[in-house]
Amino acid sequence: MERYIVHPEADQDSMPYWQSLREHKAKLQKCGKCGRFRFPPSPSCYYCGTFGGNWEPISGKGVIYTWSVIHHPVDKRLSGEVPFTIVMVELEEGPRIAGRLINANKAKLKAGMPVRARYDDMDKDLTLLNFELA
Ligand SMILES: [Zn+2]
Repeated sequence: MERYIVHPEADQDSMPYWQSLREHKAKLQKCGKCGRFRFPPSPSCYYCGTFGGNWEPISGKGVIYTWSVIHHPVDKRLSGEVPFTIVMVELEEGPRIAGRLINANKAKLKAGMPVRARYDDMDKDLTLLNFELA
C-alpha cells in the first residue's frame, strides 16, 4: 500500500523551518530581544511581542512531555501504520513540538524520558521531524 503523506502548506513564516528539516538540521526562530526560541513559527515573539528574530539551529534534544499511542486510525489511509506513538517533546531550547516516536512501540514510556530528533525524508520535498529515545 502506498504511504499516505500530507504535505504542509509552508508559508512565509514557516518556510525556513521546513527547509531546515530538508537539511536535517532543525532551526527555530529565536527572538532578537528576549532571546527565547519559539514554535510554531510566527512573525513576532510570543513572549515579548518583538517582530522578527533569527533562525538558529537547535540541539534536537529534549524530553517527553506527554504522548499518545494511536491504535485506531482516524483516517483509514493510516490503517497500515497503526499502532504508532505521537510524542509532545519539550526541547532543550524551551518550545514543545510534536512528532512521531520511532522504534519505541514496546518501550515503557515515562514523562521526562530523554529523546533526540530524527529526520524522516518522506519524499523529495518533505522531511518530518520525528523523535527516538536517546
Ligand atoms: Zn521575545
